[in-house]
Amino acid sequence: MDFGIRGKRALVCASSKGLGRGCAEALAGEGVSLVLNARGAQALEVTAAEIRARFGVPVETVAADITTEAGRAKVLAVAGEVDILVTNAGGPPPGVWTDWTRDDFIAAVDANMLTPVALIQALVPGMMARGWGRVVNITSRAVKAPLAALGLSNTARTGLTGFVAGTSRQVAASGVTINNLLPGSHDTDRIRAMDARNAELKGLTVEDQKTERLTTNPVGRDGTPEEFGAACAFLCSQQAAFIVGQNVLVDGGEVNATI
Ligand code: NAP
Repeated sequence: MDFGIRGKRALVCASSKGLGRGCAEALAGEGVSLVLNARGAQALEVTAAEIRARFGVPVETVAADITTEAGRAKVLAVAGEVDILVTNAGGPPPGVWTDWTRDDFIAAVDANMLTPVALIQALVPGMMARGWGRVVNITSRAVKAPLAALGLSNTARTGLTGFVAGTSRQVAASGVTINNLLPGSHDTDRIRAMDARNAELKGLTVEDQKTERLTTNPVGRDGTPEEFGAACAFLCSQQAAFIVGQNVLVDGGEVNATI
């Protein structure tokens, strides 16, 4: 299927690896030119070079912390007018609910709620003026089913979900859609770090921890960045113009819910 977005320009945040990279590659595969971002310049340049070589699309890079005002200003200055915005950043650290301080909550809300809100506020008015735009926020299955150790993520991402629910319906008439893509467990450094932490806490090997975790997944494996990216590219397609303000789970059916 041709998604009809060849020649569009996308900003994909936090995209030198993992899910952000999966989204960037899927968009590049549809002929979309890219602005990629991550903090570490070296991995970012390697990723950009590989995407240029594989897909033949223009790729610009901005090494910056997207969760800071200065970092966002740097990214937005290079991005200019984009048609597609994929928001993403590292997730909050795991822990225990009694330990989190006000500062921990503020950091999580800054990174995983207020950063995407600021990017939407900066870029969606231009999309509306031009009559077309797509925003996909990488959030988490934690907004549908809370994860005990990830209370900071449960909290901050649910705030973003509320913002998107209201805002997406205000901008839809201008041809701009805003949706959230909710990863379950995907094979990235993030999930590997979580498996290592949980293995240590339970006295298991990392392999046994992963096997135990996967028993609750109907597909019986982790998702891939490519599968996640394909869902993102579809939400950015012409065909997805009528999908507004939704929370789309990509989790192999792990969240056991009817709706
Ligand atoms: P990952 O493999 O660790 O990749 C994270 C990417 O984001 C890297 O390119 C990293 O590069 C960049 N990054 C991190 N913090 C950044 C910042 N402040 N500014 C700019 N770039 C930043 O992680 P992932 O698995 O793709 O996860 C992406 C998001 O999805 C996270 O918020 C995570 O919590 C969430 N999530 C993931 C899963 C999963 O199973 N993988 C499940 C649910 C939710 P630098 O370090 O160089 O900046």
